[in-house]
Amino acid sequence: MTVSLTIDGKHVEVPSGTTMLHAARKLDIDIPTFCDDKHLVPFGACRICVVEVEGSDKLFASCVTPVAQGMVINTATEKVKKAREAVIELLLTYHPLDCPVCPQSGRCHLQDLAFEHGKDESRFGPIHIEKKIDYDSPLVERNHPRCIQCGKCVRICDEVQGQGELDFVERGFETVIEPSFGRTLDCEFCGQCIQVCPVGSLYSRIFKHTSPVWELTPVRTTCPFCGVGCTLNLEVKKDRIYHVLGVDDEGSNNEGFLCAKGRFGYEYVNHPERLKKPLVRRGGVLEESTWEEAYQAIVERFKAITAAGGGDAVGGIASARCTNEENYLFQKLLRSVLGSGNIDSVARFGQVQAMEALEKAFGMAAPTDSLDDLDKSDLIFALDANVTEDAHIVGLKVLRRVRNSDASLIVANPRKIKLAQFADAYLPMKPGSAVALTNAIVQVILAEGLEDREFVSSRVDGIDGLKGTLEAYTPEKVEGITGLKPDAIREAARTIARAEAVTILLSPAFGSYVGGDTVAAAANLALVTGNVGKPGSGILPLSEYNNVQGAMDMGALPDRLPGYEPLSQGVTPGLDAMGMMEAAASGDLKGLFIMGENPLTAFPDRALVEEALRKLEFLVVQDIFLTDTAKLAHVVLPATAGPEKDGTFTNTDRRVQRVRRAIAPPARTRADWKILCELFEAFGQPLPYRGAMDITRAIAGEIPFYGGITPERLEKTGLHWPCPDTNHPGTSFLHGEGFPGGKGQLRTVEQQKNGGASSEYPLALVSGMILFHSGTTTKWAKGLNELSPEPRAEINPSDAKDLQVSDGDRVRITSTKGQIEAVAKVTPRIQKGVVFVPAHYSDRSVSSLIGHDPVREKTVTHISVSRV
Ligand code: SF4
Repeated sequence: MTVSLTIDGKHVEVPSGTTMLHAARKLDIDIPTFCDDKHLVPFGACRICVVEVEGSDKLFASCVTPVAQGMVINTATEKVKKAREAVIELLLTYHPLDCPVCPQSGRCHLQDLAFEHGKDESRFGPIHIEKKIDYDSPLVERNHPRCIQCGKCVRICDEVQGQGELDFVERGFETVIEPSFGRTLDCEFCGQCIQVCPVGSLYSRIFKHTSPVWELTPVRTTCPFCGVGCTLNLEVKKDRIYHVLGVDDEGSNNEGFLCAKGRFGYEYVNHPERLKKPLVRRGGVLEESTWEEAYQAIVERFKAITAAGGGDAVGGIASARCTNEENYLFQKLLRSVLGSGNIDSVARFGQVQAMEALEKAFGMAAPTDSLDDLDKSDLIFALDANVTEDAHIVGLKVLRRVRNSDASLIVANPRKIKLAQFADAYLPMKPGSAVALTNAIVQVILAEGLEDREFVSSRVDGIDGLKGTLEAYTPEKVEGITGLKPDAIREAARTIARAEAVTILLSPAFGSYVGGDTVAAAANLALVTGNVGKPGSGILPLSEYNNVQGAMDMGALPDRLPGYEPLSQGVTPGLDAMGMMEAAASGDLKGLFIMGENPLTAFPDRALVEEALRKLEFLVVQDIFLTDTAKLAHVVLPATAGPEKDGTFTNTDRRVQRVRRAIAPPARTRADWKILCELFEAFGQPLPYRGAMDITRAIAGEIPFYGGITPERLEKTGLHWPCPDTNHPGTSFLHGEGFPGGKGQLRTVEQQKNGGASSEYPLALVSGMILFHSGTTTKWAKGLNELSPEPRAEINPSDAKDLQVSDGDRVRITSTKGQIEAVAKVTPRIQKGVVFVPAHYSDRSVSSLIGHDPVREKTVTHISVSRV
């Protein structure tokens, strides 16, 4: 039902229930607010938004008052103006006029309104209330005297982040916003409270006193950390990033929200330890060289190796962090210049297996739906997905969906992840048992006749074969494997079957137990319930790094060319990532080129990887820091960081987005794409590209499903592939029209035998990302490092008691492969018999603990823990 009314003499029609504020905005009439935010429930705290309604003596707070039929509203009468001035004056009674040193000066709403209304003092006189400034947090400084108590920070922390870390404490003039009981801020440090604070009461400690905001230039780009691909403005001056704001417009998928890494993780860019010159090993020592000398060494050594052993004697590790353009050139260099098909990336340890499983099931190696579509799901199944820590913004989207609608959430995870507290059902499964659990869910659905019969009969093959094999996976039969009560599995199965649109989230990554089998089992579940090919349903494997998807799309795979095209007939697939390590360790692979990757920490079996890298006759590493891996290289090429170059990333839901050069790189470094172009030239095969965007166009010309993705179109927004031509809008969910191969394929997936705990290694290891670190770059971010300087191993209180380990103790974690040290965090969040160790600490990486299975499947690693 609509309501028609008049605002400032203009007629407008809006849906019934619309607030006066939103009706005015529809007419582009500006009403000032402090406490309103489109992501928050209206609060009506600040009263600056008052308006007059004809026929009433009262003023109305427009942000909380719904319009009524025939209403005549005036937003700029003398009475309204006086009321607003009174609000400003009341705020100025206690808000300090310390604008010269306030980080918000220049974009402070109170400053703007005081200026607009000509108010530089309050007729109510200054009132001084003694309030402290909180300097305790390494990232968020809280200046209580400046707070105008609009409550935006309190509400965003609760309503959006699901944290509730901040609240109003005390009453009246004494009121402050702080964690309960005067605690130090201990939260996810997403910094959203900073972004919404209108007056500079909350601000980033890192960026404080760095530059006035009016001297900063915002550069819109894509976050360089995880696969969500948040759009943000890097606010820069010369070669420095001073401030970071999430972008909230139609072109962004993060609606202005960021996580701690995306907001505070950029100190690596200006870190003094950045590589600034090429290095060449002379007499066993890495020494500075010229670019020419480095290129000459690369050309000579690779030519010599391939002349003796052919292209198979060399290989390349591409980068899940570099741009599409760089990965495209990298695989081209390997294939067309060095004649090698040995090319792979860190995607091998999760995402490649996930894509292979999706291709077998649905005919296309691609996540089936988009992150935006989560708002259309009526059930989200987080299956062994570390959602909030792997992909923070996805966690927020899930949270919003389940809090603001009837949508349900099922979480299956050995660790009680944050989303579990908001879930309708939490299934604390044993590590590495997701296949058995999912098979059991499918078994129940089929046994009880709850499948989507029409979908299965018209769009799916293999139902009879699957039914037969699932007899071994009744809830009772998998109880020992999963650790879950049969009734809990049955209830989850029925809930999933009843739902109209189900999205399954998974975390395939190095360190997680989600591999191809788990994704294949999830695909079976999606197919039997008809949850593919419609909005809000499908399978989304969350990629850990910013461009895992793009590296695969660009052909950084040993068995596929760009765009997943098969190899020419008769061409044998090259070696995958661990295949290269094994070949190097055995002396068969002699030369390796690694771009933007650190296999010593990002690959399993650190001992094997180290042996392999040391044995190489020639190792080239192109990176921004002298990583553990780079230290072993014969030539090191200093590259530029994400905020220093142009290009594109493809995020976890196939969304291709623009990456923009925001700052100048260190003087003698070069962008990865430029280095690669120069190497082509050094090898005598020059390329015609003058800039990164030329390569974007070349990609559009070569990969059919990138055909419509041009630099011009990416200026405004990201585009989901498939996007075959420049008139195509992109594809937010796949398989709506049918599967490429005709029908979806159900296939038998067996639960791997995980082996048991032994008396020597009694505990199961679970690993994954944490909120504050994602690898090499975040370790250089001072604030993030202060929050989490070393790995914290989560241990169940009962295990801790048995091990005589207390919270904060230093512990040694040992597996058959090696050992690392960590700090114990005793918490019931992790189930008994299981220990969680964060994956991304380069000097204490779980790569030292995890072996690699020759059949490339993921089996549970068992460990022991002892106090150091
Ligand atoms: Fe960056 Fe991912 Fe955090 Fe978004 S969620 S800000 S993409 S790290």
